[in-house]
Amino acid sequence: MDRHVELGRTDPEIASLVRAEEELQQDTLRLIPSENYVSAAVLEATGTVLTNKYSEGYPGRRYYEGQQNVDPIENIARERAKSLFGVDHANVQPYSGSPANLAVYLAFARPGDTVLGMALPSGGHLTHGWGVSATGTWFRGVRYGVRADTGRTDLDEVRDVALRERPRLIFCGGTAVPRTVDFAAFAEIAREVDAILVADVAHIAGLIAAEVHPSPVPHVDVVSTTTHKTLRGPRGAMLMCRAEHAKAIDKAVFPGLQGGPHNHTTAAIAVALREAATEDFRAYARQVVANAKRLGEELAARGFELVSGGTDTHLLLVDLTRRGVPGKVAARALDRAGIVVNYNTVPFDTRSPFDPSGIRLGTPALTSRGVGVEDMASVAGWIDRVVGGSEAEEARVRVEVREFLARFPAPGLAV
Ligand SMILES: *Cc1c(COP(=O)(O)O)cnc(C)c1O
Repeated sequence: MDRHVELGRTDPEIASLVRAEEELQQDTLRLIPSENYVSAAVLEATGTVLTNKYSEGYPGRRYYEGQQNVDPIENIARERAKSLFGVDHANVQPYSGSPANLAVYLAFARPGDTVLGMALPSGGHLTHGWGVSATGTWFRGVRYGVRADTGRTDLDEVRDVALRERPRLIFCGGTAVPRTVDFAAFAEIAREVDAILVADVAHIAGLIAAEVHPSPVPHVDVVSTTTHKTLRGPRGAMLMCRAEHAKAIDKAVFPGLQGGPHNHTTAAIAVALREAATEDFRAYARQVVANAKRLGEELAARGFELVSGGTDTHLLLVDLTRRGVPGKVAARALDRAGIVVNYNTVPFDTRSPFDPSGIRLGTPALTSRGVGVEDMASVAGWIDRVVGGSEAEEARVRVEVREFLARFPAPGLAV
């Protein structure tokens, strides 16, 4: 069945690329931890006439008429977010995770203020005050890292740097953090230095919703998250907070930073939040973590070195230094074999961010297809054969991966 008839007529070039992408998403083992497959319902919501609407403002307080349907959609999304995460207030308008974080700066800080975040090579995100980001240019970024002996967040360092630098904002959470974030410990430090504490749970929001990762809600001032990673929604973001910060957050998102919200995305976020409140989703999130743990064990059994020795989440960071294969070389070889990962820095990396020592793997996407723990030995076996292996081996693995995935139809794809 071809679902792109009209697109094909109007723009055959783009239509054929979309079809090729569908095939790629069906035929490859997608291990990028920030990626997923949305359900057919979420996909459908993103492709609706809501994309035609303008609705600057918030429900009941818009700068445009004709909001009879948009207002209830945004209200439903907000209420579902509040109930799923147990928060007082939710703003579902941020265009994506990076603008959501920028809105937090706008709400609570002034240019030049100090922000404390995890260093990028330790697993932090660009928007936590890293130099090349606007947040590290307009604000003064100071950093914490992980302990060399454990590969886990160095909370002593967080406290030392916080006491010395007196940051206005502290970010906890990151983009390559395999272990549980200790929100309560961060909260104690933030209280001590009177800083606003932000939990950036972009990666783990789905795990938090399903209660397989502790919630930051009782501990932090603001929760920032994307909606498209483990939460399995459309590309978008949310900011959640206690009632006392609601006004500041809303003002910062609009009119502070953005114009009209992407209403088709808001509708799809609402659908994803409804799905995330089901027992099916909770089982899914438990499976994501079980798969990641097993994949880690199977990789370790084949001599791969895991940062922090394993995972509590959906994510694994593999240090390839001892194997003698740079991360980029490994990632390229795996891609040729139909296994999609990204190269990544590892803590204390001696190589550069563009040519680092590690790869980052995650299980959200393959778990959405129904792949289970019993399959992780195969996945680890393929990675083992390809990293440092021959081109002929890559080709053999490519065939095996394709045959394997034919048993697991991807959600939302008509194949
Ligand atoms: C993915 C991510 C973001 C940014 O999200 P985008 O939607 O890519 O802008 C922010 N913070 C963390 C921790 C992330 O992992």
